[in-house]
Amino acid sequence: MSYIVGSAIFWPLDVEPVLNDAMSTSNARTEAAANAPAEARPSNFIRDIILDDLKTNKYGGRVQTRFPPEPNGHLHIGHAKAICLDFGLAAEFAGHTNLRFDDTNPEKEETEYVESIMEDVKWLGFQWDGLFYASDYFDQLYTWAVQLIKAGKAYVDDLSADEIRQYRGTLTEPGKDSPYRNRSLEENLALFERMRAGEFPDGSRTLRAKIDMASPNFNLRDPVMYRILHAEHHRTGNKWCIYPMYDFAHGQSDSLERVTHSMCTLEFEDHRPLYNWFIKELGIFPSQQIEFDRLNLTYTILSKRKLLQLVREGRVSGWDDPRMPTLSGIRRRGYTPEAIRNFCSAIGVSKTTGSIELAMLEHFVREDLNKRAPRAMAVLHPLKVVIDNYPKNQTEEMDAVNNPEDPSAGTRKVPFARELYIEQDDFREVPPPKYFRLSPGREVRLRYGYFVTCTSVVKNDKGEVVEVHCTYDPETRGGNSPPDGRKVKSTIHWVSAAHAVDAEARIYENLFSKEDPNQTAEGEDFTANLNPNSLEVLTDAKLEPSLANATPGSRYQFERLGYFCADPDSAPGKPVFNRTVALKDSWARIEKRK
Ligand code: ATP
Ligand code: MG
Repeated sequence: MSYIVGSAIFWPLDVEPVLNDAMSTSNARTEAAANAPAEARPSNFIRDIILDDLKTNKYGGRVQTRFPPEPNGHLHIGHAKAICLDFGLAAEFAGHTNLRFDDTNPEKEETEYVESIMEDVKWLGFQWDGLFYASDYFDQLYTWAVQLIKAGKAYVDDLSADEIRQYRGTLTEPGKDSPYRNRSLEENLALFERMRAGEFPDGSRTLRAKIDMASPNFNLRDPVMYRILHAEHHRTGNKWCIYPMYDFAHGQSDSLERVTHSMCTLEFEDHRPLYNWFIKELGIFPSQQIEFDRLNLTYTILSKRKLLQLVREGRVSGWDDPRMPTLSGIRRRGYTPEAIRNFCSAIGVSKTTGSIELAMLEHFVREDLNKRAPRAMAVLHPLKVVIDNYPKNQTEEMDAVNNPEDPSAGTRKVPFARELYIEQDDFREVPPPKYFRLSPGREVRLRYGYFVTCTSVVKNDKGEVVEVHCTYDPETRGGNSPPDGRKVKSTIHWVSAAHAVDAEARIYENLFSKEDPNQTAEGEDFTANLNPNSLEVLTDAKLEPSLANATPGSRYQFERLGYFCADPDSAPGKPVFNRTVALKDSWARIEKRK
C-alpha cells in the first residue's frame, strides 16, 4: 500500500501507482480561480453538489475524481469536456484526479491507445495523480463476486446471451426468472470457480446479480456481472478467461480509489441504481455517480467506434488526420490546449443533451491564436507582379510587425524586390463593384512595402492573366502614405519571388457536409455524409523566407488568410502547413445576432 506523504490521496489495494513528476503542482488550475471565493465563481450543477458536500463534510472535505477512458481508441474533443471537468473541479478544490483505464474488454483494447491517451491528457494541460487500470482490480472484483454469491446475491446462469435477452422482458412487461436463478450457494460457488478455471467455452455461462426481474429499470433485471471470454488481455495476459462487465467494474474501481464524485455522461443515468446497489451490497466506500450531458458538435462525429471506421476504411489519413475531432488530430491541425479548455469552460455542463456549433469551437481557437500566433506573409495561389520602375537586383529589408496584439513580439525583416507574388484573388482585370484591390490603373498598398499602381498585364494563350506589371512610389516606403496625403482603399500581402519558400498548404473544410452526420437515408451509414471537399492540397504556395524551417507544430497567422500550423510532414526548406482555421469568425456574427 502506498500513500503520498502530506496528502489525502488514497491508493487502492497493493497496486503500485505510477506517479507523475508534477504531483505537487497538479493541473491547469488557474491562480485567479483559486484565489477568488468559491461562491463567487461561475458555477454549474456539479460544482454546486461538490460545494454542498464540502459544506456538510460528506467526504471529510475531500474531492477525488477520475477520468476513466476505455483504451479502445484515441481521445476526441468530447473527452476533452470530461477531462476538463474531472481535473478542473478537483483542482479547484485542492482535490485529486486519477487517470484510470477502463480495460475490461480485452478484445478491443490496445497498448497503443493507452499511450496516446496519456499523451493527450498531458497535452491538454493536466497531470493525473494516480494512474490505474480497472484490470488492476480483477482479483479484488473476483473476491467481491464470490462474496455476493455467498450472500445469495449472485448466481451462475446457463442461459445464452440470446436467451437472457428473451427472458429480460420489455418496457411494458416484466422479465422472467432464469431457470438457474435458484441454484444453491455451493453449486454457484463451484460453477463460478470452474468458469474461472477455463472449463467452459465462451458465452456458455455468466455470473448474474440476483436483483429483480420485474424492476422497471432494465439494468436491475439481474444484470450480468461476468462473462466467459478466452481472450488475452493487454495487461493481464492469459491470467483470466472471465471478465467483469463495465457495471461490475466501474463503481467498485471508483470505490477502491475512494473517488468522491464520479462524473460520467447521461447515458449512465439508468445505471446509477445498479452502481449504488453493488456498493451497498458489498458495503464498500460510497462513491457518488453524477451524470452530465455528452458533447455533440455540429458537422462532427464523436464516437470512437465510428472514428475507428473512418481510419480503417482509409477515409482519413489516420487518427491524427487534421480533419479528425481527435485530440491528436486537432493538435496537428494547430488547435491549442488553451483554446480547448476555454471552449469547454464556456459550454459548461447540464442535464440536457444538445448540439454545440462547431463555429463556437473555432471561435475559441481564433481568439487564442490571435493573441499568440506570430504573423507572416504567405501566398497560396500565386500571381506574379513585376514592378517595372524598381531597380533590378535590389533587395530591401522591410520591417514587419510580428504580432499587433503583442508588442513584445517585436518585428522582423521581410525582403522586398522587383518581382513579387500576390494572391490571384487580389487582382481583377475587370473589377466588380466594391472590389478595391489591384486592377489596371488602380493603386493599392503592399503591406510593409510600397504603394503600387497596376499599369499592364501579360496573358497566356488561354487569355488568362499570368503577370501583372506595376509601378511603385518610392515615397511610400513601409507602406506609409505619401507626402501628398494620397490614400488607397486596399492593402494586400505579398512575398518576394526570388526569396519565396515553396510550400504545400493543406486547406481543410468540415469533414462532414451534414450538420448532423448521423442523419442518413435508409441503407446508408454516416460515411455517406463525408464532405468530398474536406481537404484541398495547394502545392504551389509561396512563403516569406522566415518560414523556411518552421518547426512542426508552430503556429502562425498568415496575414489575411487564416491561422496555419506547420505539419510533421514538413522537410527542411520545404514546409507543409495545415490551415487551422480561416480568419472569418462566423460564431462572433451568430453571437451578435442573438
Ligand atoms: P465513445 O462513444 O466515443 O467511444 P465512450 O463514452 O465510450 O465514448 P470512454 O472512453 O468510455 O468513451 O469515455 C471516457 C469518459 O469520457 C467517460 O466518462 C465518458 O462519459 C466521457 N465522454 C466520452 N464521450 C464524451 C462526450 N462526447 N462528451 C463528454 N464526455 C464524454
Ligand atoms: Mg465506452
